[in-house]
Amino acid sequence: MNKKKRDHFNLLCDIGELADLLTDAQNITNFLQNTVKLVSRHLEAHVCSIYLYDEKSGELVLHATIGLNPEAVGKIRMNPGEGLVGTVFAQMKPVREARAGSNPRFKYFAEAHEDRFASFLAVPIQRGVQKIGVLAVQHEQVDFFDEKDLMALRASASQLAGTIENARLLIDLFPVSEASSGKIRRENPGLIKGMTASRGFAMAPCTYFRKSHTSLLAGNAGSRTPYTMEDFQTAMRSTAEQLKDLQSKLAERLPESASLIFSAHFMILKDPKFLDKIKEQIQTGISPPDAVRTVTRHYIDIFSASSHAYIREKANDMEDLGGRILKNMIRRSPREKIKGKGRVIIAKTLYPSEILKLASDDAEGIVLHKGGVTSHVSILARSLQIPMVISDHPALTDLPENTLLLLDADIGNIYIEPDEKILQQFEIRNAARKKAARLPKNLCPVTHTQDGIRIRLMANVNLLSELETAKKLNAEGIGLYRTEFPFIVRPTFPSEEEQYLIYKRLFDEMGDREVTIRTLDISGDKALVYSDASSGANPELGLRSIRFSLHHRSIFEQQIRAILRAGAASPGLRIMFPLVSSLDEFLEARQVIYDCAESLKTEKLPFHENPRIGMMVEVPSIVEIIDALCREADFFSIGTNDFIQYTLAVDRSNEKVAAYYRSCHPSVLRGLARIVRAAAAAEKEIAVCGEMGHEPEYIPFLIGIGIRILSVDPYYLPFVQESISGLRLSDAQKHAEQVLAEDTIKGAQEVLTQWAEQHKGPGKK
Ligand code: PEP
Ligand code: MG
Repeated sequence: MNKKKRDHFNLLCDIGELADLLTDAQNITNFLQNTVKLVSRHLEAHVCSIYLYDEKSGELVLHATIGLNPEAVGKIRMNPGEGLVGTVFAQMKPVREARAGSNPRFKYFAEAHEDRFASFLAVPIQRGVQKIGVLAVQHEQVDFFDEKDLMALRASASQLAGTIENARLLIDLFPVSEASSGKIRRENPGLIKGMTASRGFAMAPCTYFRKSHTSLLAGNAGSRTPYTMEDFQTAMRSTAEQLKDLQSKLAERLPESASLIFSAHFMILKDPKFLDKIKEQIQTGISPPDAVRTVTRHYIDIFSASSHAYIREKANDMEDLGGRILKNMIRRSPREKIKGKGRVIIAKTLYPSEILKLASDDAEGIVLHKGGVTSHVSILARSLQIPMVISDHPALTDLPENTLLLLDADIGNIYIEPDEKILQQFEIRNAARKKAARLPKNLCPVTHTQDGIRIRLMANVNLLSELETAKKLNAEGIGLYRTEFPFIVRPTFPSEEEQYLIYKRLFDEMGDREVTIRTLDISGDKALVYSDASSGANPELGLRSIRFSLHHRSIFEQQIRAILRAGAASPGLRIMFPLVSSLDEFLEARQVIYDCAESLKTEKLPFHENPRIGMMVEVPSIVEIIDALCREADFFSIGTNDFIQYTLAVDRSNEKVAAYYRSCHPSVLRGLARIVRAAAAAEKEIAVCGEMGHEPEYIPFLIGIGIRILSVDPYYLPFVQESISGLRLSDAQKHAEQVLAEDTIKGAQEVLTQWAEQHKGPGKK
């Protein structure tokens, strides 16, 4: 055997490429299997196997192999220290044996059929202090592997460690038998990761949503029924009336965007060119339905070819409109197959009108193939409180009707025929949600800890439709109104007047209560189709939030003017800037408010003359300059979602790095504590409005470090109140000190978990 032929360099290059290909859970088995194939080929080994450590059973399990009996995958299990593989794992040291059988630690596994392989070489797979598993090669020839092979295998293992560790976490969601012999059950990948469009849970049999309009547009008239110009005109009138009805129904649930959802429809309906083109065709003898089809398709083609995303989106509106006109004309409408009730709907695309219909049909949830999280339908789904996940995974196109789906739309997971373990977790979380939904009647208007410390509970609001819930649940005010949503649902920037009407409604609804309006915070997952703000390699680090506003001064001024005017009579108006990273930026943004106030005064328009002006704490650069900011800002609100993202350099919307997004990282916790202490020393108000504020695990810590205001999604208010009422300040402070004393993520996590365990009394979550 010519050992020089063994290709160590290319082995590492190929492994790098392979790891890059692992993009979702579905590919894990493939990935492991391809890895063993690759390693065995480059090292000319007869056997290559990957064993991964299963934390639950405490065993090493064979997960992929080439050369051993494929049936042994998932079956060969050993304790750390047992056999040669177990020894490599226990000691985290490689083992190279010229003749494996002569090592007293060698253990023969009958199901593996490995008796004929003499040479053995195995290295640990380790990531930092995390023990992950073992990568092993075997060969029939005695003393086949040399030092160089060992080094190459070691380098491969270290290159693979990160990917394998993630793979191993995901494998927990799959039964091990699925991993056998590299086979993937394509028809049921078990778990599909999608994007959260609208949060919530849903578990129900699925059904496919089929469009009636599309089929109408695709067909041709069939000349059996004669249609007249009169039929066409009647169809146009009926369509306009139906759309008006839908719009007013929608306006009750979605005031800020109702008039916009069908704006394109109405514009086209009134467009003389559209009408004339159809009429001309009819006059030349083309049947009215065909004339509608031809002209509609012509418009769709033009819109679809546009280089602007927002114009391409209009093709959907056009298709919807054409379909409606046809349906009204042909009247023998194909029976619509919206069977929403008690179902999870799988749809390729949805029109806003269709999602509304699904909501009125009580659909449990939606899986949408195409569409952005910020698209109209996503916004609508959120406002209508229908859980929705977006995924174009191919398995979602041919599931049998009625396959049970579980949507965990909070994290974008779609479970196909979920197993018992997942169902149980779902039940627990769902029960907690239901309990929360029942709690409102018991909610007190004010919240105190067990020993009488007053904590103010405010609501985070994205859409005006959520105000009702916030009020019903006794929110003391709005701690965060995210103004970006009215911007997202529009085809262009809303005018000052349009914004004024939205903000006015917000103030009118909340009366004297405090309302903190955050200025425009657009970025990665809150992109505007009509702006280039979110373009660039990394939009989270780009021209977003306050940077965007300061860069586009006139857009910023229009927003500030609209806020000041709308809040003219509102004592509770406060304005807050997102993503401030320096004192300079804060001062510059505040000056814009002063300038707008000046010009409003000159114009003699009523406006709020003296709003309180504060900022979000989301960027770690604030920690070092908080004292200076305390001298200028009226109040602070900590956006923990971004604070964690930027402190730990982890993209909060990238599920591949989700494991690194750790709220209990000591730098996050100590950063928060420093900020809160500085604000308290300066007697400046400081709240938490990020997700951490509603997490039961963190509430005692936050109260312990001095937080007295929490702003959370309205839905969480009862939970948070319950959690606080069972808390004693001195205990929370002691707990916070203990958490802060920990130097490691693991240590902090343990202290947090310990507290949660100790305080899990009856009736508590
Ligand atoms: C945050 O970053 O914690 C926050 C509340 O802002 P958003 O989630 O809108 O980025
Ligand atoms: Mg933020």
